[in-house]
Amino acid sequence: MIMFYNTLTRKKEEFKPIEEKIVKMYTCGPTVYDFAHIGNFRAYVFEDLLHRFLEFAGYNVIRVMNITDVDDKTITGAIKNKVSLEEYTETYINAFFEDMECLKLKKATYFPRATQHIPEMVSLIKILLEKGNAYFKDGSVYFRISTFPSYGKLSHYDFNKILTSSTDSDEYEKEEARDFALWKAVKDEPFYWDTEIGRGRPGWHIECSAMSMKYLGETFDIHTGGVDNIFPHHENEIAQSEAATGKKFVNYWLHCAHLLVNGEKMSKSKGNFYTLRDLLKKNYDPAGIRYLLLTTHYRDPLNFTEQSLKQAEKTVNNLNAFYQRVSFGIQTQTSCETNIEKKICKTFENFFDALADDLNISAAMGEIFKFIHDVNESFDLGKMSSKDSEKIISFLDKINEIIAVIEPIKEPLPDEIASLIKKREQARKEKNYAVADSIRNQLSEKGILLEDTPYGTRWIRKQKTT
Ligand code: AMP
Ligand code: ZN
Repeated sequence: MIMFYNTLTRKKEEFKPIEEKIVKMYTCGPTVYDFAHIGNFRAYVFEDLLHRFLEFAGYNVIRVMNITDVDDKTITGAIKNKVSLEEYTETYINAFFEDMECLKLKKATYFPRATQHIPEMVSLIKILLEKGNAYFKDGSVYFRISTFPSYGKLSHYDFNKILTSSTDSDEYEKEEARDFALWKAVKDEPFYWDTEIGRGRPGWHIECSAMSMKYLGETFDIHTGGVDNIFPHHENEIAQSEAATGKKFVNYWLHCAHLLVNGEKMSKSKGNFYTLRDLLKKNYDPAGIRYLLLTTHYRDPLNFTEQSLKQAEKTVNNLNAFYQRVSFGIQTQTSCETNIEKKICKTFENFFDALADDLNISAAMGEIFKFIHDVNESFDLGKMSSKDSEKIISFLDKINEIIAVIEPIKEPLPDEIASLIKKREQARKEKNYAVADSIRNQLSEKGILLEDTPYGTRWIRKQKTT
């Protein structure tokens, strides 16, 4: 049974998709006015874990991630750089895809862009106007929140306490201060669309309603984002969509807590951010960054420090070293005394169950480290056969479908190195330790570390240290 914490009900609930074996999932994607920072990537890594886990559990995941390529910031950027909106956002769209690849984030099935879905947004707005859920004011269109009584059900805010009447200082002259823009009239700006509801550009919230329903249907399974999206963005998405269709919009809402810096949300406006590129320039390893963002439970805030990143890199190095140890180790052909199959089955079961419990990745990784510890012990005692190794490797490959941080070096040992290892073994047999040590040093310079075990010498490649 898979359980997820649903922001809508504030409870962990059993996950049951609408269609058997298919999950339809929507992720709020980037606003492409700049490079994404690793706070954004915390959200995308959490969503990647969810995506990978659902596939691992046997579901076919149909996923949409939108690209917000028109808003105040993209417009300001394009005007400042004297280029079209398309030209301006292209750089950041390409950079985003590169960053996704670098962090091994699975591609969504669709990456719809707001600017390419204006007709869908206009149709939705027209329905809301016809139904009386929206109104024109000064060429713009606003959602009339008073017509949607369950407004606030996602964020659990008490809207009675929030100002509901318009005020003199309300520049847009809305009926109520809390009403939000669906369509913004454009008079002097260079970027606009001429449509049935006038010349203008879309508000932010409407794009996610229009694009999610276009690709996933009027009701779909999962909608995700960071907690900052709950209000107003997701609350508004629910209001627009449900008012238009009369149907429940989304069954499960999952939100991740923020990546923090010194206790504050990492954000562009606070200036306390690192882009992925900043960290790569400092020579950090993408797998370490992914591991750091992945392995704190998604609903717990994560405080970012370079120290914690270094620690994450070390852990990834250890995982790789273990993988290499098992795959390249010189093993005896003795029969299996360790009952490895049973251990793998149990670990796999526990790993899966931990993730099925609202993506408890820390507990899931705990199972893997326990397994590694036990296997290492059996290795040290010379109890592993090469058949055992094969089974362990295929188990690790399976786990890596979810964590995606192990980067196995699959090439065989180069002849030159193999012969040096043999020479050293011979020297040790002859108790010629000076020669043995000098060969060990020679190999170390070539990035090969040796380990003497009860049944021979094993080698691993040195990992990068930051
Ligand atoms: P934006 O481009 O600001 O719309 O954000 C894209 C995604 O990143 C959204 O899901 C946000 O909730 C998420 N996000 C932004 N800042 C952070 C942060 N510091 N920690 C976690 N998620 C964040
Ligand atoms: Zn959205």
